[in-house]
Amino acid sequence: MLSQNSSKLNYTYPTDSSSGSADLGLFSQLLQMVDGDWSDSIHAICSHIHNHFSALGVSLSIYDKIYNEFIYVSYSINAHKTLKEVGIDINVNTAVNILTDIYTKNTSILEEKIFTGTELKSIVANYFNNDKVKIDRIFNEFNLKAIAAFPVFESNGTFTCFFHVLSNREINDSEKTKLNEYVPQLNVALEIVFLVRKLFLKATHDGLTKLFNHKQGEILLTREIDRISRNRDCLTVCMLDIDDFKKVNDMYGHRAGDMVLEFLGKFLTMKMRKSDIISRYGGEEFLLVLTETSMETACRVLNRLKTLIRDHVFTFDSEEFSITASFGVVEYNPDAHTSLDDLIKAADEMLYKAKRNGKNRIECS
Ligand code: GH3
Ligand code: MG
Ligand code: MG
Repeated sequence: MLSQNSSKLNYTYPTDSSSGSADLGLFSQLLQMVDGDWSDSIHAICSHIHNHFSALGVSLSIYDKIYNEFIYVSYSINAHKTLKEVGIDINVNTAVNILTDIYTKNTSILEEKIFTGTELKSIVANYFNNDKVKIDRIFNEFNLKAIAAFPVFESNGTFTCFFHVLSNREINDSEKTKLNEYVPQLNVALEIVFLVRKLFLKATHDGLTKLFNHKQGEILLTREIDRISRNRDCLTVCMLDIDDFKKVNDMYGHRAGDMVLEFLGKFLTMKMRKSDIISRYGGEEFLLVLTETSMETACRVLNRLKTLIRDHVFTFDSEEFSITASFGVVEYNPDAHTSLDDLIKAADEMLYKAKRNGKNRIECS
């Protein structure tokens, strides 16, 4: 019997600086829609190699080089002597942490290579932060003798995928050839995963700001409302609109306007929490959902954002300009807001009030 662990990780469309709100569920559904469950197929390949090769374990990881994050990790560890039994508990999250650590500290394992002897010792020491007990267990109880690393798939320099085979015996040339035969199968499976990822991002995100689009913003807000109606949490919603944006386009050109929108996408993603839901709701209008946040706290956060936006100096074609934004804020109240429309309308009304009262301001209901 093999123990199997596989997971698609939080699925985001991260910006350069940090990740946006995650949606694991949708991606997983999309994957299943393609043809059966591809995550299962990839994991099945992992398990197959594991079994066929009598390995101690096999792992497959996909790293997004542009956004510097692992987006998929699947692994299969021999249950006869699991790492858990030897006192090392690895779940998908710890596997990701280990891989991230390797990627930043020891990129040699990300090349095609077989690691044995002192090289292997140094990798394992890195894995476990020089924890002597764990290192001894890996070699003596888990009986690790070699790690074979194979790059699998490289798409436009964006993604790098590897599979690693952990073995309790030396891996000779003929065994290496056998392992290499799995690479084309993984390539095909992963190519489809990436196509689906592209489709998913296109369908749910705005291309310019990289934020969720209108529809996805509403879907995620509805989901959040459903969640808090069960656990009675609080939730604050804000409609943000750039003031006099038409003037930016008129004075500096449409491309300058686009640059402002792009900046705001990155800025909001960077300044708000990962759990918040940020979407481009319309042209220069953003729907911000501050989860588990009361009106009072939300207003503090938004006030800070308002000042930072006002103080930012944009440069376009060597001309400098600034913008301001207005905010309409409402705390979700299940008695007053019986539908999503009610809630959005309430935030919109506050936004209009902020505009009427002179712009560059926050109005709360
Ligand atoms: P207010 O302070 O009342 O919000 O005034 P405003 O000028 O910001 O609002 P208005 O609704 O009059 O104009 C919005 C402008 O946003 C008009 C439209 O051309 C511009 N816009 C919408 N989407 C985009 C875009 O993707 N790129 C650029 N550059 N401009 C956009
Ligand atoms: Mg505007
Ligand atoms: Mg507007």
